[in-house]
Amino acid sequence: MGLDCWGTMSLGRLGKSPVRVPRFRWCASLLLTGFLVVACQGGGQSDERLTRFIDEVMFWGYFDNHVPQRGRVAKWTADLSVSVEGHDAGRYLSRIEAQLERFSEWTGLGATITDTASSPSLKIILMADDDFLVNREHVSCYASVYTKADRIVAAEVHISLAEEEEFDHCLSHELMHAFGLRYHSGIVQSTLNPAHREAYPTLWDELALQVLYDARLSLSTNRVEAGSIIQDIVREHMAGS
Ligand SMILES: [Zn+2]
Repeated sequence: MGLDCWGTMSLGRLGKSPVRVPRFRWCASLLLTGFLVVACQGGGQSDERLTRFIDEVMFWGYFDNHVPQRGRVAKWTADLSVSVEGHDAGRYLSRIEAQLERFSEWTGLGATITDTASSPSLKIILMADDDFLVNREHVSCYASVYTKADRIVAAEVHISLAEEEEFDHCLSHELMHAFGLRYHSGIVQSTLNPAHREAYPTLWDELALQVLYDARLSLSTNRVEAGSIIQDIVREHMAGS
């Protein structure tokens, strides 16, 4: 089964039917399944490598031959209300809540489960379908993220329940996208590294979220401006860890 996609659309499209054709899309190839990144096993990462990892997941398309895409910091600036809906939602609720608690801790944002009637900002939609067809590719999960002037105002995470063992990886990976890390990277062990297929966010994923939500990294900062800020924050985190 394929991996996932992230999409982002302008607020103008909000309110229409579930987004199936995102503007930006990175669907990993199964050819990468056997690809090993030796350097990413275990700890001992250098500040430079971690800075590069964060640069990639924040600004670059790993599967686009490193052609920069949108290139500006986008993130949530308000607490999230989250709904869990769709097929067998109750069965997965505690796992989703546990994940959201960790994302909340790393980003400093609240993420409260609510019901679908109260206009949740993040919708997690579970489907019994085998997979989703997104831009003519079969994927088992994907995220659609809605921004307004680089502020993330809404997101939807769609997950197929056809493959139980994929659930935690899909949820972790798509939540990373939904919180604003829009690309993939093979540099370190990460749930955004499709070669690893980590079930849960790693220490480096946690670091990437902490950097993104650090107050010094302002909304709409471009990649060039962000470079030294990211490096400083990474150094501080690594020195303190
Ligand atoms: Zn992805």
